[in-house]
Amino acid sequence: MAKPARWELIDDGTTAYYRFNWPTGAVHAFSGRLGGFSDPPYDGLNVALHVGDDAGRVRQNRQALSRTLGLPAGDWACVNQVHSDRIVWVGPGEDMDEDSPTGVIHADGLATDLAGVPLAVFGADCGLLLYYDPQARRIGAVHAGWRGTAAGLPQKMVEAFIARGSRPGDIRVALGPQIGPCCYPVGEDVAAVFRQRWPFAEAVLGPSSAEGKRTLNLALAQRLQLEMAGIAGEHIGELGLCTSCTEALFSYRRDGGRTGRQAAVIMLKIEAHR
Ligand SMILES: [Zn+2]
Repeated sequence: MAKPARWELIDDGTTAYYRFNWPTGAVHAFSGRLGGFSDPPYDGLNVALHVGDDAGRVRQNRQALSRTLGLPAGDWACVNQVHSDRIVWVGPGEDMDEDSPTGVIHADGLATDLAGVPLAVFGADCGLLLYYDPQARRIGAVHAGWRGTAAGLPQKMVEAFIARGSRPGDIRVALGPQIGPCCYPVGEDVAAVFRQRWPFAEAVLGPSSAEGKRTLNLALAQRLQLEMAGIAGEHIGELGLCTSCTEALFSYRRDGGRTGRQAAVIMLKIEAHR
């Protein structure tokens, strides 16, 4: 059985973020709306450039968060998120720039063994997940709404870690902000996609409403596929905050589409630690 999530909210007035009690060697954060410099409807700590917010404010927000976390100046490694199950590895000789001459990479997972490089994914209802293997010194970040979760991206990141030498028993995963089953009715089309792929589908779909909708528990679907991949239940942390129910988080559905994005950010520390 899953143990209760062990996370805390760090709020210094300028920025705020959630973090889990993970082993040292990496810094990580799930940001939200608290703190920051953006005006409505992006207030306050919007960290996404593609949503119509003032780019200067977004940079201020990213810099503030980087400062708070002790991340190096400069940009985070990001991808153009397209609800896929694609993972790119960041580092020399990796596949960061294979896609296009503009350097725009379409993917929904980022991973690296390189220290000092922050990875970031963004969302406002879709799930944001972070991965850390403190033994192999390896990190990952995933953006997974229903499409990415149904396609198995949360599990695929584990497989990608294992393919590079990680042991499943060493890997920590944190399930960050995402829309909860309380606020997420889905149609039969979505339910069918889960039933086709996952033996646990009925466990993550709520009872039918009068309109024939089911509710979808994304976090549970992610947890169950992570456990199928060998991740220990106690190594899966869960924020357990519904984006739509929680004022301190951005929610695309609640805010009618015009809103900012929270980020999941992670970086391996450069210092030798063992
Ligand atoms: Zn909710």
